Amino acid sequence: MRHIAIIGSGPAGYYTAEAAQKTFDDNVRVDVFDRLPVPYGLIRTGVAPDHQSIKGVSKRYEKVALSENVRFVGNVSIGEQLSIEELRGLYDAVVLATGAPHDRPLDIPGANLGNVFGSAAFVGWYNGHPQFAELDPDLQGRTAVVIGMGNVALDVARILAKTRAEFAGSDIVTHALDALQASRIERIVILGRRGPHQIMMTPKELGELGDLEQASPHVAPADLPAPEEDALLEPGLRKSVSHLRSFAAIPDSQRAGKPKAIDFVFMSSPKALIGNDKVEEIEVERTQLVHGRAEGTGETYRIPADLVVSCIGYRTSPIPGVPFDERAGRFANDEGRITPGLYCVGWARRGPSGTIGTNRPDGYSVIEKIGEDIASGALGPARKPGRAGFDALAAERKLDVVTFRDWKKIEEAEERAAREGAPREKFVDIEAMIRARR
Ligand code: NAP
Repeated sequence: MRHIAIIGSGPAGYYTAEAAQKTFDDNVRVDVFDRLPVPYGLIRTGVAPDHQSIKGVSKRYEKVALSENVRFVGNVSIGEQLSIEELRGLYDAVVLATGAPHDRPLDIPGANLGNVFGSAAFVGWYNGHPQFAELDPDLQGRTAVVIGMGNVALDVARILAKTRAEFAGSDIVTHALDALQASRIERIVILGRRGPHQIMMTPKELGELGDLEQASPHVAPADLPAPEEDALLEPGLRKSVSHLRSFAAIPDSQRAGKPKAIDFVFMSSPKALIGNDKVEEIEVERTQLVHGRAEGTGETYRIPADLVVSCIGYRTSPIPGVPFDERAGRFANDEGRITPGLYCVGWARRGPSGTIGTNRPDGYSVIEKIGEDIASGALGPARKPGRAGFDALAAERKLDVVTFRDWKKIEEAEERAAREGAPREKFVDIEAMIRARR
């Protein structure tokens, strides 16, 4: 019998558990750890609350979680309550599926002003992550600036633009829904340091901006390259750019019927945030493309900004003793292998890119590496205690482990508390989650 510990119960964690099950069959036991008492990581607290069809993939993870050889071990923080070294002593293989929970820092003057948030915090706030439930962003100003032109920027802009009715069927937490309903934001600027051909937004998600009840997307026609240049783009990006072209073609008469505007501002790099305690303006520098990179032209201008959300990517949390690639913001690894016995997968391996589905091949590939290391003898004989060893240590340290069965009770309580038409009302407080299991 081989024992695998997976740290993190998001998509990367559960696809890896599924791959272990399919590959090693009944010769493996897998424990999936999470520091929260609830599973599914980014599916629960990252994927937008109005994208329920994407969140549906958790049903697949549940099937894995309910099988005999996989176990959920919630409410245990590896690196704090238990070290990686201790875990490596208990399991044949430890796989870090810890994602990239920290914002890539917006390294400009004024970034510490009030009402400036990174996307991890802002998305965590509307998605009910316990760490960010108290964020309390001020939505009473007129203009929000969302920095970055990826799918996270799109999520944030869309959430800021939607009406209460448009959140029907979503699991946005009520504290955020109420704050958004009372919002006075009329203009949402999506700020990119490069041009329309360099956006990182996927077509389906970008297209959604064209169908909002109260908000209209705006692209200045002069910002778009000549149409014939689109032919050189890969098909997905070409489709996204065609959405930008259709936004540029929306007549003013149609725009006038909608009180909110989502303005795309290209070729402008953030230089400073300006304000007293709270942000009031953002200073940007016009850029030009040099070999595809944004280079400053020296010309600066300011945009009013009562709220700033920086959506410029994420970094993995370093863990003491595990080699870290500072520049890339993830664990140093060779195709998922950090060293025989210690692996990483998903965003912790490759950085914050790709869709939820990208984690599936990633999970299978890391299990293949573990298989190779077992076959070569690099992991030694099958003598590790696995679960039994962890349970003994957990009892000794009095860890309050939350099981999958406990999670199902928490889930039932969340479903019972749901607003009408919503799938659940998430607990945003760890103690409340723990109480619900009882
Ligand atoms: P992303 O796709 O890498 O986009 C990051 C954006 O930030 C880029 O436009 C980038 O511009 C910009 N940026 C980076 N550093 C900057 C700086 N210093 N100043 C100004 N702009 C800067 O990252 P993401 O939006 O965080 O998304 C992460 C991953 O999750 C992506 O793979 C995304 O597709 C995925 N995701 C998918 C969905 C979905 O499918 N529905 C939803 C959310 C996220 P440059 O290109 O110039 O560097």
